[in-house]
Amino acid sequence: APTIVWFRDDLRVADHPALSAAVERGAPVLCVFVLDEESPGIRPLGGASRWWLHGSIEALRGELEALGGRLVLRRGPAGRVIRSLVEEAGAGAVFWNRRYGGPEREVDTELKAALTEGGVDVRSFAANLLFEPWTIRTQQGAPYSVFTPYWRACVAAPEPRHPLPAPGAIEATGPDVASDELASWHLLPTRPDWADGLGETWTPGAAAAHERLETFLDERVGDYADDRDRPAVDATSRLSPHLRWGEISPFEVWHALRERRVHGDGASRFRAELGWREFAWHVLFHAPELATRNWRAEFDAFPWPRLHPAALVAWQRGRTGVPIVDAGMRELWRTGSMHNRVRMVTASFLTKNLLIDWRLGEQWFWDTLVDADAASNPFNWQWVAGSGADAAPYFRVFNPLLQASKFDPDGRYVRRWVPELETEEYPAPIVDLGESREAALAAYRKVRSSS
Ligand code: FAD
Repeated sequence: APTIVWFRDDLRVADHPALSAAVERGAPVLCVFVLDEESPGIRPLGGASRWWLHGSIEALRGELEALGGRLVLRRGPAGRVIRSLVEEAGAGAVFWNRRYGGPEREVDTELKAALTEGGVDVRSFAANLLFEPWTIRTQQGAPYSVFTPYWRACVAAPEPRHPLPAPGAIEATGPDVASDELASWHLLPTRPDWADGLGETWTPGAAAAHERLETFLDERVGDYADDRDRPAVDATSRLSPHLRWGEISPFEVWHALRERRVHGDGASRFRAELGWREFAWHVLFHAPELATRNWRAEFDAFPWPRLHPAALVAWQRGRTGVPIVDAGMRELWRTGSMHNRVRMVTASFLTKNLLIDWRLGEQWFWDTLVDADAASNPFNWQWVAGSGADAAPYFRVFNPLLQASKFDPDGRYVRRWVPELETEEYPAPIVDLGESREAALAAYRKVRSSS
């Protein structure tokens, strides 16, 4: 009886343990992707993620077909969809790579129980994180809440396994199992089509991901430690959306770095950034409501002032009158991405100068980032806001002007995105940076005195 391989956040054929195990099992293989916007608690994808997913599915379909396989697309609550596919195909096994979000785990656990009871062989595999979140524990057996000891424990753990090669060939099931048309999912924006800049900047799919990795290892990793904070310089890997969708696995990245024998600060710094991704998932695994709930409960007492919607819109549109903030927000809108240093500055400005709840910023990033990630996005927002695990202390308020002069000293980045800077067209700052900083610190003192 056929094996169903359920693709989720792992849109690749190489280093795909579930697919490899299915091919090894010997029976025909039915590959499926389910667009699930209905299971309880599943967070609907943002607009930029939907755009990415469309391209990524097309790329995966091409790769599977080149191996003789076929990708079936279905839409609906995933548990029900997979169960009905098992019946339609008369499948004897269902394999998938694990995911780590709370609602997703619930879907998977229920489905596994139901299918196993019906005699189906269900197997799950580790594929998207180097370290399974429950395996890294403090000496007391608790999850980590501070990055440095967490990463030290990871590095001391057995080395992540080598990546698996893509299967040589896939024997597909017959054509009798129907598939949705990808176009019928309407993942691409139409009226208006705001995705021009995304298409100019990105190519979803594993081939592009591996090209990015090669370029980074050939040209950039040596200077990564020095240049990674400079937004005008193309110094980082730009792998984040590819990792988000699993077009490349962290095992592939880890071992590519090893095999090149790259040493020095650049390599270890880059490896530690992969570590932050692992840590964000570690934290989310143990606190599934990270996107809606303060990780540090004392922040529930934070007196967010009443929202001025115009301030939020000015931030979203890059019209705050603070050049580096506007540059970042425009880069995000146009390209679906923003340099990490500028993400920190724009997030700090929203939470500490505009005194707007970090959740509203998180939601905007969720909608507009091509790498919008269920763990990294809320984790980093809470890090900046001061409410998160191992967070920057709240009282450390970024001064956006100093940040700009330190990390964009010649103004190249700002001018690229805010060409009207020196003209009258450019607005005056919508807040006084000094006064708003003091207001933020006063609000923070209330949190402290209430804890
Ligand atoms: P590189 O510098 O080349 O790093 C390599 C990889 O390490 C990245 O691709 C990414 O997977 C991981 N990484 C790097 N920094 C971090 C970090 N701080 N936290 C977690 N993983 C990291 N990253 C996302 O992938 N998705 C998000 O939704 C996201 N939201 C963010 C929101 C805010 C407010 C902030 C401050 C940061 C956010 N980041 C997010 C982290 C970081 O900005 C991006 O991962 C990075 O800019 C991606 O560029 P790169 O691939 O060139 O990174």
